[in-house]
Amino acid sequence: MATDAPRGGIDLGGTKIQAIVANAKHQVLGQARRPTPTEGGPADVIAAMAEALQEAAEAANVAPDTLSGIGVGAPGAIDDEAGTLARAGNLPGWRDPYPLAKELGARFGGVTVRLGNDVQVATDAEFTLGAAREFSSLLGVFWGTGVGGGIVLDGKPWLGRGAAGEIGHIPVRHHGLQCPCGRMGCMEAYAGRRAMEARARKAHKDGEKTDLFKIMEEKGRDRLTSGIWARAIERGDELAEQLLNDAVDAIGTAVASACNILDPDAIIIGGGLGVRFGEPYAQRISDAMMPHLFHDDDPPVVRVAELGDLGGALGAALQVQDR
Ligand SMILES: [Zn+2]
Repeated sequence: MATDAPRGGIDLGGTKIQAIVANAKHQVLGQARRPTPTEGGPADVIAAMAEALQEAAEAANVAPDTLSGIGVGAPGAIDDEAGTLARAGNLPGWRDPYPLAKELGARFGGVTVRLGNDVQVATDAEFTLGAAREFSSLLGVFWGTGVGGGIVLDGKPWLGRGAAGEIGHIPVRHHGLQCPCGRMGCMEAYAGRRAMEARARKAHKDGEKTDLFKIMEEKGRDRLTSGIWARAIERGDELAEQLLNDAVDAIGTAVASACNILDPDAIIIGGGLGVRFGEPYAQRISDAMMPHLFHDDDPPVVRVAELGDLGGALGAALQVQDR
């Protein structure tokens, strides 16, 4: 039941947990962030989520057991009715269905916890509060470590049988590169940050010149973050440019395929790489769609997500509002 009381939102990611407390008008009153545990199991992850929410509530000056509810956006297989999360590959030891809603709620006096897919709730947030406010249908494309998608049709999230929106696994090349999912030729095999890094490492090992790994060392990182890719492009690094060209082509091809089926009003580009590269790359993705759009005289609008880092947590909190 929706009330005017503040609500909680938690974006549960593979590297970080972002918690917010927001009022009924979706204004963020407090926020906190924790690294996602890399060892242990669901109980450890839930403990870290509870700490982040507790801290966000303190920052908001709200007692967490008075929240009207807590919404969670999580990766993996979600059963909101049962309150369980399963097969969350990026979370430690989280394979079988685990009663996330009940255990998290129990830490705050039994407050109701709603579960949703992380990418879908971020799409819902852009639809309700962000870059797609004036539209009735959209495709959210979250370009980061992988490439996730969310769909809103006629103002309602489209979940299919629970597995819709996997835009990253639309094939863009027959017998193409192997995707981190194991299949061949998926868009994510060319555009996901993890896959791009694997390609860069191989090319570097094979003797191709690139500053990517030098920049990584300068920044004291052990992986090629969005910021490192952006810096390499600023320096005119040819390998980085070539891999990003491939990524843009692959995204454009897959998104155009989805548009030929769904014909949405708008495409919203989010995620770490999407937000980092911003408007110029949204335009490039729009251009890369054109050769594949069947109705190319009236292409959908392509925009960058507006809500940034807090979009996932705001979308998670929206689930409390909506039900
Ligand atoms: Zn795949």
